[in-house]
Amino acid sequence: MNQRESKENSCEDRYTRLRAITDFGYNITWEELKEKKVVIAGVGGLGVIIANQLARCGIGTLHLFDMDTVQNVNLNRMGYKPEDIGNPKVEVISEQIKRINPHVEVKSTHGDIMSWDIEPIIEEAIQKADIVMMGLDNYPARMFVNLKCVRHKKVLINAGVSRSALSGFVHPIFPGVNACLTCSATIRGSNSNKERSVERCNASLPTTMAIISSIQVQETLKLLLDFGDVIDYLSYNAITGQFHTFKTKPDENCQSCKDITVDESDYQQFPHIKKILNNRKIK
Ligand SMILES: [Zn+2]
Repeated sequence: MNQRESKENSCEDRYTRLRAITDFGYNITWEELKEKKVVIAGVGGLGVIIANQLARCGIGTLHLFDMDTVQNVNLNRMGYKPEDIGNPKVEVISEQIKRINPHVEVKSTHGDIMSWDIEPIIEEAIQKADIVMMGLDNYPARMFVNLKCVRHKKVLINAGVSRSALSGFVHPIFPGVNACLTCSATIRGSNSNKERSVERCNASLPTTMAIISSIQVQETLKLLLDFGDVIDYLSYNAITGQFHTFKTKPDENCQSCKDITVDESDYQQFPHIKKILNNRKIK
C-alpha cells in the first residue's frame, strides 16, 4: 500500500472535513451524496466549477453535456489549461474529475443537446437525475433544458452571468412551485433582458463565475442533504457588492409550466420544496 492509499484508508478520509459540519448542529448524513445523480448542462465558466466542487464533495454520478472544444479564450476561466486546447470540454473535465475523485462516476456527452441524436440522451439523463445544473450561455439551449426539467418535474439550478461579467443570478427552479425560466422571462421585463443577456457573454471574469457557480453548488448541497433554507432567486451585483434575494411564483400564462400541477407525491426527496408547498396551502 503506498502512502496515498494509506492516507485514504485511515480514519481521516477525504470527506472528514465535510462531515465535520455536523459538529455545528446540522444533522447531515454526508454519505447520502454518494447516491445522488447530477446533470450539468454546459461545462463553461460555471459548469467546470460546479463539476469540480461536486466531485470534491463526493457526489455519486455526474453527467456532463457540452458541444464545445477548449479554445484560447476559455483559459481565463478555471478548469482549462493551454494543453487542453482543441479537445472537447466534456472530455477534459471528465478526466480532471476522475483524477480529483475516482469514486465519482462521470458520464460525458459531447454534442448539441438539441440535436436529434443527443436529445434522447439528455432526456434520459434528466429523468434519472436528482438535480440538473445550468451551465449554458445559449438562450435556446437554456430554454430547452428548462422545458425538459418542467416536463419531468426536476429541480433545475438555473443561473447566469451578464455580458459585462459584473452581475449574475442564481434561480433554483422547482417546476410548478416557483417561476420557471420561461416565467421569469415573462413576469418581469428586466429578467427577460437578463436571460437574453447571457446568450452571448462578451466579458468573462473567473471571479464572478466562481461566485455564481459556488452558490449554485451550495444550494444543491442544501437540497440534497436537507439543511438550511434554499433561496428562490438571488441576484448579485459585483459593482455594488450587493446580493438580493426574492420569491417568485409560476406565471399562470407561462407556455412552459402553466399545465404543471404538483401534489404531495411530488418532490418527496426534497423537504425544502414540500415546506414551500405546505406554507402555500396554509396561506
Ligand atoms: Zn413557467
